[in-house]
Amino acid sequence: MSDTSGIGFDREADTGPADEHISEAFALLGNETRLNILLAIWEKQVPLAEDNTVPFSRLFERVNCDDRGTFSYHLDQLEGQFITQHTERGGYELTIPGLKLVRTIIAGTGVSDATLEPTDIDQPCPLCDAPTEIAYREGVMFLTCTECEGVAPGKADIESVLLGNYFEPAGVNGRSPEELHAASVAASVRRARTLFNGLCPTCSGPVVGRLECCPNHEPTSDCANCGRIIGAWAHLECRICKHYAVPNPKWLALFHPAVVALYDDYGVSPRVHAADFQSARRVFGLVYDHELDIVSVNPPQVTVTAAIDGNEVHLTFDETASVVDVRR
Ligand SMILES: [Zn+2]
Ligand SMILES: [Zn+2]
Ligand SMILES: [Zn+2]
Repeated sequence: MSDTSGIGFDREADTGPADEHISEAFALLGNETRLNILLAIWEKQVPLAEDNTVPFSRLFERVNCDDRGTFSYHLDQLEGQFITQHTERGGYELTIPGLKLVRTIIAGTGVSDATLEPTDIDQPCPLCDAPTEIAYREGVMFLTCTECEGVAPGKADIESVLLGNYFEPAGVNGRSPEELHAASVAASVRRARTLFNGLCPTCSGPVVGRLECCPNHEPTSDCANCGRIIGAWAHLECRICKHYAVPNPKWLALFHPAVVALYDDYGVSPRVHAADFQSARRVFGLVYDHELDIVSVNPPQVTVTAAIDGNEVHLTFDETASVVDVRR
């Protein structure tokens, strides 16, 4: 879905000089003692505990630093932005940004050597019905077809790709290949839904949506123009931190109340649960069955149709990738 078909990896970088505050934060954290202080405070955190402060003496014991003066200096450097000293108890605790930073480190590196070699899972290819495989490397979970060329034959870096979802390494261990597939689809749905709702899942910043359509799409084969099987995609990007995803509007239709209601009338759940492989398989099938029609290329406009048993819901997406019309 989002990030599918390698589409998410070809962003045109427009990185400008880093803001002064960002440079300062990076400089502040480029020190092992300071990172160890953050981790040592985090180790003592108990969710919802009344007192989550760590006294200076315990922190000094825990962090490998020879000199109390140097240790105090590092504490002072972190104070304000990443840690705070409790006015009554005197101990140190993480601020919300400090806590978020430690969680990011744990999510990204908490499990060493998180890879999964291509492994069969019980998910037929929606395009050709052949068996599919999942694999994980460099933070991305790939679903690939063992027979056909996948959804972006002329585009993706990975051959035969059907899905390519960002997934934190910390989530890889302890899950079977089927569970990993379900969890990565659930993570991708969550990310796309949040971005579609105008909120960046990373920094809470505002999101700008843009619908893009292939100007001359050849829908039945490897389109020479866009290299994709489906000739429209939504580009959703945070204005603050550049977090982005490129979900297909067929996936975004899953979040519209009219489509949810249609499925509900037939007892079909469009929800993916991370521990339920069948839910991922079902939702994957629902999305692939959505019909997408390009109404206009300039300005870009598409309709997505969800149908069960002759009952249909048609959603029209405008150039901002927002739903502007619903027909039943
Ligand atoms: Zn296939
Ligand atoms: Zn095309
Ligand atoms: Zn953001």
